Amino acid sequence: MKVAIFGTGYVGLVTGTCLAEIGHEVTCVDVDEAKVEALRAGRVPIYEPGLEPLVASNMEGGRLRFTNDARPAIEANEIVFIAVGTPPDEDGSADLKYVLEVARTIGRYMAGRTVVVNKSTVPVGTARLVHDAIGAELSARGVAHDFEVVSNPEFLKEGSAVKDCMHPDRIVIGAEKASSFEKLRRLYAPFVRNRERFVEMDVTSAELTKYAANALLATKISFMNEVANIAERVGADIEMVRKGIGSDPRIGWHFIYPGAGYGGSCFPKDVQALARTAQKLGMHPELLEAVASVNVRQKRHLYELVERHYGASPTGKTFAVWGLAFKPDTDDMREAASRQLLEQLWGAGARVRAYDPEAMAETRRIYGVRDDLVLCESAAAALEGCDALVIVTEWREFRSPDLELMRARIRDRVIFDGRNIYDPAEIEDGGIAYYGIGRGRSI
Ligand code: NAD
Repeated sequence: MKVAIFGTGYVGLVTGTCLAEIGHEVTCVDVDEAKVEALRAGRVPIYEPGLEPLVASNMEGGRLRFTNDARPAIEANEIVFIAVGTPPDEDGSADLKYVLEVARTIGRYMAGRTVVVNKSTVPVGTARLVHDAIGAELSARGVAHDFEVVSNPEFLKEGSAVKDCMHPDRIVIGAEKASSFEKLRRLYAPFVRNRERFVEMDVTSAELTKYAANALLATKISFMNEVANIAERVGADIEMVRKGIGSDPRIGWHFIYPGAGYGGSCFPKDVQALARTAQKLGMHPELLEAVASVNVRQKRHLYELVERHYGASPTGKTFAVWGLAFKPDTDDMREAASRQLLEQLWGAGARVRAYDPEAMAETRRIYGVRDDLVLCESAAAALEGCDALVIVTEWREFRSPDLELMRARIRDRVIFDGRNIYDPAEIEDGGIAYYGIGRGRSI
């Protein structure tokens, strides 16, 4: 099938590439000229495991193209995806300006029967706005074309996006027309051998499904962080508590890991946007507001542990920081817990020697060159001349501590483990003070 995708970010680029991989002919459209130029030259601007070779082979196979030119992409394709960003507005609502801009562009150039598929995370009612924006352009042109705006929220996870796209848990489709359901079922069929993985519903329910999923996951994290803070004060170990509850199948093991707070481009903004939707309906979304505020507090917690250890602001100290991306296997630093920590350390007059396997260029892009930030080429190099180590992202390569090296290089012999990747007893037996999240016995 012939498909156009607007937006070549994490969602658009991965979706477009995976659709090309299963044999569709895909045109990816982006307004960012530098991005399109890079992609055409075979440079993938984001880090996502397995993505680069797939982009290369599908470009070579002539199934995947990149362009800034919207018109031919819309004219030539029966299915047009919208996968552009929906960042938070000043009041926390989802800002739909990019989505509606694409909608107007689609209306301007639509040349025949089209299914417009919205993959961006958007509030309930957006499909209607997109429909109206396209309709207004068509009327202005004095033409009429048969089109439907379908909701197809995306559930891929950064860090395993290609795998998630190729082997989805479910594909949610919200539409009205049987022909639209049928078209999307045909498009996605090679990804899903079991038909029950298609979850078909009305547009409004599909739009709400995405927010419900992200808000529930964020709720699990904030819940565990709140209990971790209780554990810390009563002298319990949250890791024991986690093991004690996760084995209950009603609770499950996923998303009950306490840590330095959730980040990324989705959870913070989606929880906020759903809360705003509720407020606009005259409701008071107490739970969603609490989930968000627990997370804001939690992102400050690592720094609080630092202050607690030193009994004062760590002015003049040098911190090795391991992990800058908001989670492992990505270079994305949007809303990352590391940013809160770096900024608090700098605010206190401390210096940072940082290392991340993938997010170094992104860190440089965000913070530029500054005296109090040294980007190091390895985790071991970051420890050189540091007073303390803080772990913010649980990359696999940090998981086996080299205690001898740590003891030799960390001057104040203290580790702040924002992801509970170490056994406190092992670190302490190695002669290093240890602070985790919710690990009362180590405080
Ligand atoms: P992104 O910021 O990585 O990419 C968005 C892209 O859209 C950019 O390349 C931008 O240049 C482009 N763009 C903006 N306006 C455009 C226009 N008028 N025409 C063409 N391109 C345009 O965003 P993302 O992380 O891929 O997220 C996209 C949407 O998917 C958001 O609504 C997000 O909430 C949702 N989502 C994201 C993830 C994720 O893990 N990142 C997962 C599920 C859903």
